[in-house]
Amino acid sequence: MSIKLGLPRALLYYEYMPLWKTFFESLGAQIVVSQKTNKSMFDQGAKYCVNEACLPLKIFHAHAASLREKADFIFIPRLRSIKRYEYICPKFTGLPDMIRSSIPDLPPIIDTEINLHKDKSKLMDAFFEAGSFFTADRGEIKSAYQKAVAEHKRYLAQMQKGSLVNDILERKETPQNGDLKIGVMGHMYNLYDEYANISVMKKLLQEKVKITTPEMISQEIIDKKAEQMPKKLFWSFARKLMGAAIYFTEKKNVDGVIYLMSFGCGIDSFIAELCERRLRKSGIPFCLLVLDEHSGQAGVNTRIEAFLDMLRWRRDDESYFSPYGKYLCLGKDPV
Ligand code: SF4
Repeated sequence: MSIKLGLPRALLYYEYMPLWKTFFESLGAQIVVSQKTNKSMFDQGAKYCVNEACLPLKIFHAHAASLREKADFIFIPRLRSIKRYEYICPKFTGLPDMIRSSIPDLPPIIDTEINLHKDKSKLMDAFFEAGSFFTADRGEIKSAYQKAVAEHKRYLAQMQKGSLVNDILERKETPQNGDLKIGVMGHMYNLYDEYANISVMKKLLQEKVKITTPEMISQEIIDKKAEQMPKKLFWSFARKLMGAAIYFTEKKNVDGVIYLMSFGCGIDSFIAELCERRLRKSGIPFCLLVLDEHSGQAGVNTRIEAFLDMLRWRRDDESYFSPYGKYLCLGKDPV
């Protein structure tokens, strides 16, 4: 009988799901993914996790707990660095320990360390370690790794063609039309956990908005744009978000930007501010939505509707009535 491996549907699940799934399935594992976040999981997360933690971390606790009796192992890698000379949020480094100490009676956790800060070749070692729970054959692990990397590349290519992550994972088409183009920024787990973000993406699609996210911009462009910052941003997430914001300011390919920020997130607290300054300076309207356990559907919907109305008025009427007190009359005859 194959070993059941639990994957919590939270945090970097949205970034690496196809990679992890392909790798472990190629080694004969049966993947068990926790269900989508819901109200009772929200409450469970708050119960197990320390109060001061950010919302995504609390949600992760709930997903790990929900796998308690469903899996033989749970995969929670200890991520320190996912790119050379960069670091990831320190919460990811302590994640396996936090989960072990907060949630009783969990199955064993596979907590392989991934630290590519100084040496990219460490990645293969990490896969050998994770794979060793399923086979002793290093050749088999290497071939599973190659398949997984190929799958991950396919996943990235689909994102860069404009597909939203949940649509790729659920094999659905992402609508590509809309009378407004909005950049939606934030950590992937904020963008794609529908319960946590109170269905912001769904709401935008219902409002006939064409969404662009940082994942739809190539890593090469993100890196190039982030280089424009006076100091190197060494947090991978910060670099990605800042690179995307600069890209939007230069390309002017969005009518506005919505930033989904986690309450209690250190990185978001300064990156959201830096992105806002850049975007506003280049004339791109910016809307910040802070997500926490108390965010409500009505409040978020009202903010989004008001923002979209403002963008449509601006697009249709600003050249007619000047917001600066000076009559411009560009493009339309005065009444
Ligand atoms: S980056 Fe922010 S939201 Fe993500 S785990 Fe770290 S503190 Fe939480």
